[in-house]
Amino acid sequence: MGECLFCRIINREIQATIIYEDDRIVAFNDINPQGPTHVLVVPRRHIATLDELTPDDDPLAGELVRRAAAIAKQRGISAGGYRTVFNTNRDAGQTVFHIHLHLIGGRTMHWPPG
Ligand code: AMP
Ligand code: ZN
Repeated sequence: MGECLFCRIINREIQATIIYEDDRIVAFNDINPQGPTHVLVVPRRHIATLDELTPDDDPLAGELVRRAAAIAKQRGISAGGYRTVFNTNRDAGQTVFHIHLHLIGGRTMHWPPG
């Protein structure tokens, strides 16, 4: 997936502030942060949207979510609260078609989102 922005970040072809990585997951700061913490937690493997997930990906999906929670805890924002979001397709405003879990926190948020 040479054209994919997040694959290129994962492959170190484009610079990003990577704050966590392991065999399956990379997490980096969003370039346009929507809060004091705005981290994107992504699988190394290219998966375009949640619609492409298969039952084999259940452990990976769980790891993405648990990693976001772990980063929130590290940042000291767990108790205050944080938001985790997967945007999927047009109406949700997905712009990068490599799944990513937004972890946003460090400020009060509102519901419903815009
Ligand atoms: P989404 O709209 O859910 O697809 O989110 C894509 C996110 O990627 C947005 O929050 C962008 O600010 C972020 N983004 C775009 N380009 C970069 C980049 N080069 N490095 C880090 N984050 C990026
Ligand atoms: Zn990709």
